Amino acid sequence: MRRTVFNEDHEAFRETIRAFVEAEVVPVYDEWLAAGQVPREFYYKLGELGVFGIEVPEEFGGAGENSFKFQAVLSEECARAGVSFGGSSVHVGLCLPYVMAYGTEEQKKRWLPGFVTGETMFAIAMTEPGTGSDLAGMKTTAKLAADGTHYVLNGAKTFITGGVHADRVIVCARTAPPSAEDRRAGISLFVVDTKSEGYAVGRKLDKLGLKTSDTAELSFSDVRVPLEDLLGEEGKGFSYLGQNLPQERLAIAVGAYSQAAAAVRFAQQYVQDRTVFGKTVASFQNTKFELAACKAEVDAAEAVVDRALEAHDLRELSAADAASAKLFCTEVAGRVIDRCLQLHGGYGYMNEYPIARLYADNRVNRIYGGTSEVMKSIIAKSMGL
Ligand SMILES: Cc1cc2nc3c(=O)[nH]c(=O)nc-3n(C[C@H](O)[C@H](O)[C@H](O)COP(=O)(O)OP(=O)(O)OC[C@H]3O[C@@H](n4cnc5c(N)ncnc54)[C@H](O)[C@@H]3O)c2cc1C
Repeated sequence: MRRTVFNEDHEAFRETIRAFVEAEVVPVYDEWLAAGQVPREFYYKLGELGVFGIEVPEEFGGAGENSFKFQAVLSEECARAGVSFGGSSVHVGLCLPYVMAYGTEEQKKRWLPGFVTGETMFAIAMTEPGTGSDLAGMKTTAKLAADGTHYVLNGAKTFITGGVHADRVIVCARTAPPSAEDRRAGISLFVVDTKSEGYAVGRKLDKLGLKTSDTAELSFSDVRVPLEDLLGEEGKGFSYLGQNLPQERLAIAVGAYSQAAAAVRFAQQYVQDRTVFGKTVASFQNTKFELAACKAEVDAAEAVVDRALEAHDLRELSAADAASAKLFCTEVAGRVIDRCLQLHGGYGYMNEYPIARLYADNRVNRIYGGTSEVMKSIIAKSMGL
């Protein structure tokens, strides 16, 4: 079906990204995989290309666009080429909306120019070793100092994408204990300078997939956070998360759909090239049926993604809509990529084939940004259940 979700500007951006990925990423991607992260300098290239500034107002060095669809194009093009830009999707897709929505003019002036160039990379730290799905259970604290000039941050976070490279991390912490009526009360957000004394990056975690993404543990030991690095109002952190998680979930839905679509393309190519019993794998009826079924699932996911992208650009995507899109697209991707890997036989299990990396990379889509079970809870709640 013809897609109507992208306009000429989005398609021009797609061409730029496709050429950039082909020239600058594909030739060196094996080195990134071996290093376990994207080189820091690459983020300056993305900054130069304008990728980080698309939705940043012009006065701070950006292009002032008001459409998340550019990020969707980026995600589609990365999946198509079988590559990933590491933590940069969190920088631009997850962190920017918080700064834009809750940052003061002074904060935007301070952070956004570096954000746009890639000089100041952002990450976001919600999850802790003891709590992920149940964020209200977080233990990290930020206590206002007696002289009222700064907060003192203590605690630990884990699984933080971009945690090694980050220059600023949006840290969720308790500024007050939960109240008896509301466990979510008392959480605040801080944009913490990673060079602060007492701030430490722990292990870079060894993951099943997403090998170019620097996922790290962080710890805070009496980190002094100036008052001017509080983001938004004290105590409103949980509602800020609630307002921004839909975009994160949409981004994951788009990523999962894009990976499923890429898997079908990789498999289609492979089965036409591979000969067994004197004929191509493509010639078996089972192969045709498998790929046809996968294509139908990808088409359905595409329709969901496109509708969600339209709704999001119109600021109409609800938490439950985003949860539905994430649940559906990530579950489709899990099924489709598995079936496409099967069609590759043993080669599908070899990391040198993009389908193997897709299989590993895609698995986390059903876990991060809220698990499939949490998505079902959100949807059920919206149904009054
Ligand atoms: C590669 C990677 C990158 C990540 N990046 C970031 C990041 O940048 N920043 C960040 O803050 N976090 C990040 N995360 C954390 C991620 O969001 C959490 O892992 C996720 O929310 C799940 O939390 P958890 O791991 O603590 O699992 P748990 O909450 O311990 O869940 C364990 C199991 O219990 C189930 N469960 C939980 N609650 C319910 C319920 N109410 N009903 C039914 N079942 C339930 C879950 O679905 C799951 O199956 C990342 C994680 C990974 C793996």
